Amino acid sequence: MPIDATQPYDEQNIFAKILRGEIPNRTVYEDEWALAFHDINPQAPLHVLVIPKGTYVSWDDFSAKASAEEIAGFVRAVGHVARDNGLVAPGYRLLANVGQHGHQEVPHLHVHLFGGRPLGPMLA
Ligand code: C5P
Repeated sequence: MPIDATQPYDEQNIFAKILRGEIPNRTVYEDEWALAFHDINPQAPLHVLVIPKGTYVSWDDFSAKASAEEIAGFVRAVGHVARDNGLVAPGYRLLANVGQHGHQEVPHLHVHLFGGRPLGPMLA
């Protein structure tokens, strides 16, 4: 079920539990600002979720409330994951679902990174 992106942050959401180490994940990158791990239901040969370490419900929440340092750190982490996995030359896709119409299911901001095959045109 898609979430309401205006809800308060839920400390019990699944990605909060992953960040606290309460649930295992397949980490591909981690630094002070972000954690990146394999999606459990991959839609491409490489499908990684990059999440900020701060408690932000959605892209909207993050872009409105995060510090410039947090935003820069998160954006750089996404770039690291792409470069570390050799995706820059062939290319890749980034996607952030927001709220009901965006079909966001987990109420902690996550950017999907897809790569490893031609992804075709973006479908709305
Ligand atoms: O953008 P959206 O919220 O719809 O995507 C949530 C993503 O989180 C899904 O791709 C799902 O497979 C992934 N997921 C995961 N590990 C979990 C729960 C969900 O990788 N434990």
